[in-house]
Amino acid sequence: MEELTPRQVLERLVAFPTVSRDSNLALVDWLEGYLTGHGIECHRHWNEDRQKAALMAHAGPRVEGAVVLSGHSDVVPVDGQDWTTDPWTVVERNGRLYGRGTCDMKGYVALSIWALVRAQKMGVRRPVQLALSYDEEVGCTGAPPMIETMGKVLPKGAAALIGEPSNMKIITGHKGGTGFHVHVKGFEVHSSLLPYGVSAIMEGARLIGWVNDRNAEIQAREPTPIAATFYPPFTTLHVGMISGGTAHNITAADCRFAVEMRVVPGEDVEAHARTFEAEAARMDALLRAQRPEAGVHLERFFGVPALVPEADGEAEAIARRLTGDNATGVVSYGTEAGQFQEAGYSAIVCGPGDIAQAHQPDEYLEVSEFEAGQRFMERLLAECA
Ligand SMILES: [Zn+2]
Repeated sequence: MEELTPRQVLERLVAFPTVSRDSNLALVDWLEGYLTGHGIECHRHWNEDRQKAALMAHAGPRVEGAVVLSGHSDVVPVDGQDWTTDPWTVVERNGRLYGRGTCDMKGYVALSIWALVRAQKMGVRRPVQLALSYDEEVGCTGAPPMIETMGKVLPKGAAALIGEPSNMKIITGHKGGTGFHVHVKGFEVHSSLLPYGVSAIMEGARLIGWVNDRNAEIQAREPTPIAATFYPPFTTLHVGMISGGTAHNITAADCRFAVEMRVVPGEDVEAHARTFEAEAARMDALLRAQRPEAGVHLERFFGVPALVPEADGEAEAIARRLTGDNATGVVSYGTEAGQFQEAGYSAIVCGPGDIAQAHQPDEYLEVSEFEAGQRFMERLLAECA
């Protein structure tokens, strides 16, 4: 089978419109065919309705300790965005590669695929694995089951390099997070009869008040040394949207809002989630006691662990040797790195491109960044040889 250049792989990947809401199987079918055609072992992890699959691949000797190159196959939609080029075709202009996903993160994925084929052909001593997930853009929900499957079907890897755009800088920490859709159910009466009904809005306001109190309590504490490297240096809880009510003189039957938490490394995302769930349950009991129709319902919509900076982490050491970057960086966006770390891998984030271009119309990756990414992979291959 013909060996494609990184640029040719990128062109193939961008041509598959793998928006998170749609199937990614056309891309996975092509990629599995391409990799197996080069003698590389591949496995799939399917989602529940089998409309999407993660692809895991292993190049080199079938032993533990691989370097794992990790990326996501899905991209955000282009609906309503003003593009001056076809988003599903890579167009080079003024030293930039335009196209949906070039930056976030098919550029890195293309380089990883190229590196795996090279590793297989060279006959490396240390194996290199590819972990390509789905549903990253809808809350990193695809990676945990993929990582679990990967541990069963492939020799366990050691260091995971997650290529989210960081301008090839090494990111050793990021916040974790979770979110809840909240539905407060009230009971409608005329507002003149207020004590006999339940206003979902007024009760919802109490829960939002609790969120404000939590923020004040958290921010009053001295930040830990890890937290102090973040901006802002603490966990934040946020309500970003709210709806409810039908008229000024009717107690609201419904109030809906979303609570999102961004949790600094060193604090447990699940512990923050449980604290909120306990408060919602307490309010739920109070409202039910007033009217059986009333209550508080929660729906969790994502949960991502923080990436904790590691003391003497192997992923960081590898990335430092490959990039020469000696600085440490943290970011406030979540990635799959925290999920790999939670599963026992050493993990960092390092990839070509600027996160500012992610999700934008006319998304692009600088050619110079793509080339820096290729040098990174070439050095990795030399190290694994
Ligand atoms: Zn991404």
